[in-house]
Amino acid sequence: MPKIQMVDLQRQYHKIRREIDRSVKDVLVSAQFINGPKVKEFEANLADYLGSKHVIPCGNGTDALQIAMMSLGLKPGDEVIVPSFTYVATVEVAALLGLNPVMVDVDKNTFNLTAEIVEQAINVHTRAIVPVHLFGQSADMEPLMKLAEKYNLQIIEDNAQSVGTEYTFSDGTKKKTGNIGNIGCISFYPSKNLGAYGDAGAITTQNDELADKIRRIANHGQSEKYHHKYIGLNSRLDAIQAAILDVKLKYLDKYVAARQTVADYYDKAFADIHLLQIPERLPQSTHVFHQYTLIVKEGHRDTLKNFLHERGIPSMIYYPIPLNEQEAFKGRGRKVGDLPVTKSLCASVLSLPIHTEMTDDQLEYIVETVQAYFKDNS
Ligand SMILES: *Cc1c(COP(=O)(O)O)cnc(C)c1O
Repeated sequence: MPKIQMVDLQRQYHKIRREIDRSVKDVLVSAQFINGPKVKEFEANLADYLGSKHVIPCGNGTDALQIAMMSLGLKPGDEVIVPSFTYVATVEVAALLGLNPVMVDVDKNTFNLTAEIVEQAINVHTRAIVPVHLFGQSADMEPLMKLAEKYNLQIIEDNAQSVGTEYTFSDGTKKKTGNIGNIGCISFYPSKNLGAYGDAGAITTQNDELADKIRRIANHGQSEKYHHKYIGLNSRLDAIQAAILDVKLKYLDKYVAARQTVADYYDKAFADIHLLQIPERLPQSTHVFHQYTLIVKEGHRDTLKNFLHERGIPSMIYYPIPLNEQEAFKGRGRKVGDLPVTKSLCASVLSLPIHTEMTDDQLEYIVETVQAYFKDNS
C-alpha cells in the first residue's frame, strides 16, 4: 500500500508525465515565458470549461482576490463582508487595501455564508460580499444575489477551492461557481483541485468592462506597454504553469470524479457513527470535494487525529483559529456577534486524506481505523 498522504501529487504526475513534460518543453523551446501563446490557449480552454465569458489568469489566488477588490473601485473604509471560517487570504487582501473586513459567522452544516447571516452585517458602509465556496461546495448563491441586488452590493466569489462546482437556481438555471457574482477568484495552488506546479491563479467575470480593467490591473494597469491607466500590480501567469495547467484541465472531470468516489465511500462508512457528522451536501450545488471535512463531536477531534497519526494516517484541521482571533487582525475590521459556529468548527473539524490517487486498500485502512477508534471510544 502506498504511503497515505493528504494529497499525492507525485503519483498523479507519474501518470501524466509524458504529456506534461512535452507541454513544458514546448514553452522552453518557444522561450515565450510571459503572456505567450500557451497562456492564451489555457485561458481559452478554461473559459470554455467553465462557461465563463472572461478568464484572466494571474499570479495566484490571493492576487486574484486583491485584483478583484481593486477593480471594483472600493475605497478605504468601505466594508467587505467575509466569513470568519476560511483561509486567511480573503480578509488579508481586504485589510491590505485599507478596506474594512467585516467577519461574520457561517452555517454550521455547510461551513459557508448564508444570506440570513450576511444581512445582519449590512450597513451604510457595506460595499461587497465575499462568499467562499469552502471545501468544494457552492455557498447558497441565489439568496445572496437577491441580497446584493436589494442593497446594491458587489459579490466576489472566492472560488479557490471549487473550480468546476455547479450551482442550480430555483428556475433550473445552472451556473458554475465564479460565474454567479460579479467576479470569481480561482487558485491553482498545487494541492487545489486544478493545481499548477507552483503558484498560479485566475479571475472570471461575465462583464466586458470589468474584464478589461482586471486584465490591466494584473499587468501594471496597462494594456499597451508603458501606458498606465490604473495603479496595478505585477501578477501574471507564467507560461510554464499555463502549459502544466492546460494538460491537467483535460483531466479535471476525472479528478473530480475520483474525489467524489472517495467522499461517497467515507460517507457510507461514517454515516452510523453518532460522534461524526459527515459533510452536508446542499441540493443546489455539486460538491467537488477539495476537502472531505468531518465534524468530530464531544471533544474527540484531537484524540482521533492522534490515533490516526499513530497509525500512519495524516489528517488536517482546516481551520484551527477563527480569522477574527488571529493576531494580525486584532483591532482590524469588525466582527458581527460572537461567531459561535466558527468557534465550534475550529474546535471540531477534521479533514481526511482525499485526492485523485487513493487506492482501495488505503481507503479501507482509513475507514477501519476511524471505525476502530469509535468502537473503543463511544
Ligand atoms: C488557496 C486559497 C486562497 C489563496 O490562493 P493562493 O493561490 O494560495 O494565493 C484563497 N482563498 C481560499 C479559500 C483558498 O483555499
